[in-house]
Formats: sequence, C-alpha cells, structure tokens
Amino acid sequence: MSADVCVVGGGPGGRALALALTRLGCDVVLLEKRDPARGAGPAFRGESVSPDGVRLLDLLGVGERVRQAAHRVDRLEIEDAGQRVLDVRFADFPYRYRHPVELAQHTLLTALAEQTGRQPGGCTVLEPATVTGLLVDGPAVTGVRANTPTGPVRVTAALTVGADGRYSAVRRLSGLAEHARHTPLQRDVVWLKLPFPADWDRRAYRVRIAGDSHGLFLPSTDGTLRVGLNIPKGGLRTLRSGGLGGLHTRLDRLAPQAGAAARTSLHSWSDTALLDIFTAEVPRWSAPGVVLIGDAAHTLSPVLGQGVNHALADAVELATLAAEALGRDRRAHSRALLAALQLFQRRREPHVRRSRALQLRQERMFTLTAPAATALRRTVYRALDASPALRRRVLAPAYFPGHTPLRQAARTPEVRLV
Ligand SMILES: Cc1cc2nc3c(=O)[nH]c(=O)nc-3n(C[C@H](O)[C@H](O)[C@H](O)COP(=O)(O)OP(=O)(O)OC[C@H]3O[C@@H](n4cnc5c(N)ncnc54)[C@H](O)[C@@H]3O)c2cc1C
Repeated sequence: MSADVCVVGGGPGGRALALALTRLGCDVVLLEKRDPARGAGPAFRGESVSPDGVRLLDLLGVGERVRQAAHRVDRLEIEDAGQRVLDVRFADFPYRYRHPVELAQHTLLTALAEQTGRQPGGCTVLEPATVTGLLVDGPAVTGVRANTPTGPVRVTAALTVGADGRYSAVRRLSGLAEHARHTPLQRDVVWLKLPFPADWDRRAYRVRIAGDSHGLFLPSTDGTLRVGLNIPKGGLRTLRSGGLGGLHTRLDRLAPQAGAAARTSLHSWSDTALLDIFTAEVPRWSAPGVVLIGDAAHTLSPVLGQGVNHALADAVELATLAAEALGRDRRAHSRALLAALQLFQRRREPHVRRSRALQLRQERMFTLTAPAATALRRTVYRALDASPALRRRVLAPAYFPGHTPLRQAARTPEVRLV
C-alpha cells in the first residue's frame, strides 16, 4: 500500500492526526495493533481531558459529539492531612475553555474515527496491524512493515508518524530513542474503579494527601469513582502479598468513603491496573521521513491529566505543517518536509516542557514526609488558594496553553480546522 502519510498507532494522537490530515487533503494509512473485536481497550486510561484538549476537539470538529458523552468537571479540591488546602473553581478562569471533562477513551477514539470516515479524502485503517519494521531508502524512512491476521503488509509513505505510545516501536526502530532520557518517578500508581460515594460532589476532582501517600479521586463517565492510588516504586508485589486488606487500609487513610466502597466492591487484583510512572524525553522528535508525536515523543506522568491533551495538540500542529510541506514536495527527504518536522518540535516542545516541570514539581510536593516540609506544602497550597493571580500563573501553562481570554474570544470566533 502507499500513502502520503503512514500513521502508526490509533490512540488519541494517531486518530486526531489521521482526521486532520485527511481533511487537509492527504492520503493516510493508519495501523493499530489492538484488535477492535476485542472490545474497548483499557478502561482506566486517558479519561481526563484538560480544557485545552476540549478546545482542540472543537477545532477538530468532534466537540459537539463528545460533549454529549463527556462529564464536565467544575472543581479541583486538595486535602492534606484532613484539611482542605486548595479549592479551584474552573468557572473563575477568564478563558473561553475553562472546564476539564471526563471522557471515556473509547468514546473519544470512536468520535475521531467516525469523523475521519466522513471526510472525502482517503484514510485506510488497518487493525489489527502491528508495525514490526521500517522501510528505508538511504537516510530516509519511507514506510513500515507490519503483521496482520491475513499476512504481512508494507506501507510506503512520504512521512511515517510514530503515534504508538509510551513504548513506541517507531522510536526504537528509527534510532530516535538514542539519547532519550527515561526518568522513573519515585512512585507507581494503581488504578481502580469504585462506586461513587453518595455524599461527594460528582463535578469535583479530589486529591487527598496523607504524609507521603496520595490518591486521585476522579468522577468517571460511567458514574463510578476512578481512583489513582500512589504506591512505592515497584511496590505492587509487596502490596499484593498482603492481600486486598492492604489496599483498603491505604484508601482508608486518604478517604474512608473510598475504603468502605472498596471493601464491598473490589474482589480481586484483576479489578485494578498498574501504571509504571516515568517521563520520557526524546531530544530529537524527527529524522528524514519520520516523526514522533504524543507519548512516543514525550511520555508524561498522570498528574493534571496532560497526556491526551498534548497528543491532540501535537496532531493538530503537525497536520497543518506536514500537509503544507507535502503539498510542495511529496518526497520523504524533501527539504520542505524536514523543515516542517523541525518547526513542529520547536513549536510544541516548550509546551510539553512546561507541563512536565509542573508535574515533577507537584510529584515532589506529594512525596514530602518531614513535618516541616509537609507544613510548607500546605502553606504553598493555601497561598494558591488565596490568590487567583497566582493560581492562574501556576495552572495556566498546563491547563490553558492555547487559551483565548474571554474578552478577546467575544471578538474572535475560534477557527475550526475541519
Ligand atoms: C492507566 C492510565 C491512566 C491515564 N489517565 C490519563 C488521564 O486521565 N488523562 C490524560 O490526559 N492522560 C492519561 N493517561 C495518559 C494517556 O492515556 C496518554 O498520554 C495518551 O493516550 C497518549 O496518546 P497517544 O496517542 O500518544 O498514545 P496511546 O494512547 O498510547 O496510543 C498508542 C497506540 O499505538 C498502538 N501501538 C503501539 N505499538 C504499536 C505497533 N507496533 N503497531 C501498531 N500500533 C501500535 C497502541 O495499541 C495504542 O493504541 C493515562 C494513561 C494510563 C496508562
């Protein structure tokens, strides 16, 4: 098969890119290794979409569609040592897109795929299809080799995009993994879902901290409570060896309502999922004929739900630059394409860096244990709570990077990409 662009991976980044490129007149082949016949995929991942992600979904023309299935979030509340130290109300931010939403990843991916199917241009989706090798011509990547249930396929393309996630095969096969910095965070996260406590506000994100443990308690679109519970790095085996009781006790310490719900509804470790938390920084996102986006280019931690947002932002930025370059010269080693790929990284990397820095700062705050340090942590949160200007300064780079201030928004309607 041949196409202008071969997209490897059908997560939020890959699907959004296929949609945007197809709309901009490019021929696309997308390969996804997951078999759609095996259901919706991991139930825990990528449900929180930040306000900027909501803006990008509107830009991609799927905003209305996903809004019907999304759950709007109004508040972010942090409790430390049993005291509420921060209560952020998203309506107070002066931007057009202010609220994050919870959105099942399956709903998001289906909406992007269906919208792509409506475009007159061509997007061929091969799934399940697992990319196992790259095609090369001199220094340039010119496509991929993949395995499918009906046999091997080769896809040649002017541009191959690795949108294949945190363990990206394209990153490894292209040599772009060389010099990548992989930083494990101090703790891992166990994800689980519980019945939603009756007396909790369904429109709030809750972060609960007790000493050096913390948990995220998030409303889910299926009416349940999604819990991300921090455990020591590699500590799942120890936790499991103590039985589910150890998990209940950890939850009790942070939120007794969740501990009680876990006792009645969580019956086995198979109802949980472990996320190995690390960040990956790839110094070079592209080489002739190939580029990385989303988690493949920059794996982030789950703090503040940034992964989906950055994958969508990469897709929108890359589509515009690549379509323009391919319109001028459709060769993998063309100067126009090389320049477009480098510009793509220059434009996107500062945003990713700001989110990563905020996440790492936050993660360090969560792991403090000494009494003086935890007291200082509470003081910092209280200072944020007291000052809208400070809150905006800290949260805006991650939550509202492409924001349009309300006053300006009234004058300039948002432009739709598709
Ligand atoms: C448990 C968990 C909870 C999370 N919660 C949140 C959250 O609340 N909010 C948030 O913003 N982010 C969250 N994230 C992170 C978020 O899911 C990712 O940042 C986001 O999905 C990245 O999108 P992507 O398209 O770059 O990669 P992915 O979503 O990882 O998609 C990559 C795709 O490539 C496919 N693939 C991989 N290798 C190959 C191959 N060789 N051939 C073909 N296909 C391949 C995979 O099957 C996958 O579908 C969470 C992640 C996890 C694991």
